[in-house]
Amino acid sequence: MPDTQVQSINPANGEVIESFTPLNASGIESALDKAADRFLSWRNVPLAERAELLNSAADILEAKASEYARDITLEMGKPLAQAEGEVKKCATACRHYAEHGASYLQDETIRTDAHRAFVRHLPMGPVLAVMPWNFPFWQVFRFAAPGLMAGNVGLLKHASNVWRSAMNIEDVFRRAGFPDGCFQTLLIGSSDVEGVIRDNRVKAVTLTGSGPAGRSVAAIAGDSIKPSLLELGGSDAFIVMPSANLDKAVKTAVTARTQNSGQSCIAAKRFFVHADIHAEFSKRFVAAFDALEVGDPMKDSTDVGPLATLQIRDELADQVDRSLKGGAESLTKDRTLPGKGAWIAPQILAEAHSGTPSTDEEMFGPVANLWKFSSLDDAIARANRSVFGLGSTLFSKEEAEIDKAVNELEAGATFINSMVASDPRLPFGGIKQSGYGRELAADGLHAFMNRKTVSVA
Ligand code: NAP
Repeated sequence: MPDTQVQSINPANGEVIESFTPLNASGIESALDKAADRFLSWRNVPLAERAELLNSAADILEAKASEYARDITLEMGKPLAQAEGEVKKCATACRHYAEHGASYLQDETIRTDAHRAFVRHLPMGPVLAVMPWNFPFWQVFRFAAPGLMAGNVGLLKHASNVWRSAMNIEDVFRRAGFPDGCFQTLLIGSSDVEGVIRDNRVKAVTLTGSGPAGRSVAAIAGDSIKPSLLELGGSDAFIVMPSANLDKAVKTAVTARTQNSGQSCIAAKRFFVHADIHAEFSKRFVAAFDALEVGDPMKDSTDVGPLATLQIRDELADQVDRSLKGGAESLTKDRTLPGKGAWIAPQILAEAHSGTPSTDEEMFGPVANLWKFSSLDDAIARANRSVFGLGSTLFSKEEAEIDKAVNELEAGATFINSMVASDPRLPFGGIKQSGYGRELAADGLHAFMNRKTVSVA
């Protein structure tokens, strides 16, 4: 096998699932040509027709959810039921834009001295999406569904460990009947991204991924004067006040930290619990972590699967080690893990010192950091010390506390008495080093559109 091949490897056992040949320069060239050509006709396709195609995509996602989910689990290891839920959620995004796209795209009338003035939303052209492996379907659909409804065409550069999913997504749009070139998967590595962004046929770029990747893509987009949107990492705070429903807070905390085997940008990663309830919360939180079933992600009863790659596991293990050496205490039991594969034990680290990975870095896996605090001001100040600003959660029944958290937590979202979750109806995005721009809802559709001002004398 030539060493230019890219392999999908099952992180549960290290076996090769499939090998792919990346696109060469002429393959990239013809894909960009096809995208640019298709845009010229796609932008004029009536909205009702675009909506019908998105509804067909939703039908296919629902009908083939278990098949696509199996490939997701094979390639990146998330528990199968969660993979199936992810595919079905993509159908909801398609249906959302099919139903609401036309109203989001209506002209905005503005009163001026002119006879008539308005803003019209016009598509820009081919948009490159550089996407991560952690939600291999959802991240792509939350860009593709609004983008296609808007009249743009999509070019996907997916993470190199999930190329079977990348091909499956292209398959969804083909089967749904989208004209050839509306959505193309480019099997390319990250070193080919710069040339694609700089190409005149490509009009904008969106990236979901890590800070270093975001920095590089944003710099190239900036240098090319092209719009970019960044959805980057997070280290969301989860604050629990004495008035909280403790059962619900603990249950939510466990799901918020361990869903997707802990590999979610909006996972709660730093837990701040008020001193009055800390002992009871901590006891229940640790018991729930210790009861999690870690193992074969194809099994229904599994709560936590392997991490997506050995490298990601090693990086997280190193972060845990550095936090422990920096003064954190591990509260959870030791476990025997399945042998080969990217396994790590779910863990709770208590009272990690500042300057350690627990406070300063994103920990991408089932590791929770827990601290005790005695005033909401203190909890918010500590929550805001992170360089990230993606999501945040407050558990409280007190209106004044809720209001304070909403106003003062530095994050793109604050969820009260529930975990942070993405939803096609709600704008989604971060501040600080979690990125800029908003996906989903009307924002997601307007992200890459020309808001053309029209004035008729
Ligand atoms: P990653 O290593 O940054 O990779 C993301 C994508 O960027 C992949 O397609 C990758 O391609 C590509 N890439 C990497 N370096 C690049 C570069 N220098 N230039 C151009 N492209 C580059 O991130 P990941 O490990 O896949 O994903 C995990 C990260 O994504 C976490 O930090 C997580 O929090 C974040 N995330 C954020 C959100 C959000 O909505 N804010 C959602 C999900 C995940 P290759 O695979 O070929 O290297």
